[in-house]
Amino acid sequence: RARVFSGIQPSGEFHIGNYLGAARQWASMVRDQKEELLFCIVDAHAITVPFEPAELKRRILALTRDLIACGLDPDKCTLFVQSDVPEHTELAWYLAAVTPMGDLGRMTQFKEKSENKDFVSCALFTYPVLMSADILLYKATVVPVGDDQVQHVELARETVRRFNHRFGEIFPEPHPRLSTATRIKGVDGNAKMSKSKNNSIATFSPPDEFWGKLRTAFTDPQRLRKSDPGRPEVCNIYTMHKAVSPEATCNEVYANCTQAKWGCMDCKKVLWENFDRELTPLREKRASLDDDAVRAALAKGAEKARATAKETVTEVRTAMGLGSGA
Ligand code: ATP
Ligand code: MG
Repeated sequence: RARVFSGIQPSGEFHIGNYLGAARQWASMVRDQKEELLFCIVDAHAITVPFEPAELKRRILALTRDLIACGLDPDKCTLFVQSDVPEHTELAWYLAAVTPMGDLGRMTQFKEKSENKDFVSCALFTYPVLMSADILLYKATVVPVGDDQVQHVELARETVRRFNHRFGEIFPEPHPRLSTATRIKGVDGNAKMSKSKNNSIATFSPPDEFWGKLRTAFTDPQRLRKSDPGRPEVCNIYTMHKAVSPEATCNEVYANCTQAKWGCMDCKKVLWENFDRELTPLREKRASLDDDAVRAALAKGAEKARATAKETVTEVRTAMGLGSGA
């Protein structure tokens, strides 16, 4: 059985990009039960940019609750918090010893997140090394990600080659598994929707708030009037239709947009209804979960994850000649 690892940062509200690009695919793997699944709330990644401790603490529980509501049943997968398993940061340090600085400097996420910032932490630069450790600690071979994270998974694969070449065959090579939904753009139309960018629609915001954000979301920049024909292939709204609306609806949307029969508001209304239909049962599930249930799930998850993590780190220490033991 292939082992699958994926993570998400408790860095802000769980948005529809995270839902369509990550959580929905994870939930379907949980339903299928064909692979061994580990899903991690990567809090140590969330401290690579400025953060508030009390807020971080609150977000860890909130995000876990959102994920369980999406279908990550903690009895059917290993759902845990990264810093509850300290072996993640330990292995990251060891892997940093075989990772060239030049490779890290080429990472687009680093370039994007460090651009025009007064303070850029060393941790933001080494972020991909910690992500390699997340994956390799469990010897996972499949890493479901959105296309913004593919570069990091490729770096992890390079790290495996370098490490194995130097210290012996310990790690298998991981491969990215892209979600079917492509990158969701932010409501401002400038960049990808991100928790940290204030350009997102929170998946579990109340329906009227959800609509408020969707209503003002950026569409096709060349479509200024309703009478202008739209270009669904460049429109973020159409990307989302393809992810949540039935095929017949997508065809209808496409025809009405290109023939200028529908305005963007008509198209968004239909999208909103389809989102609402899909999210209603998830909202109900979410309402039924309290903090105690969430904490209990995470404690069990960490215990399961840690058993494997300890084994791997012991193996790595031995291979690298670390420690005082024989
Ligand atoms: P941050 O802004 O703090 O980096 P984020 O919104 O990018 O937050 P992450 O925790 O970095 O979220 O990523 C979690 C998962 O969601 C990853 O698999 C990532 O590829 C996916 N993802 C993030 N944003 C999008 C998006 N806009 N469209 C599709 N998938 C996305
Ligand atoms: Mg991100």
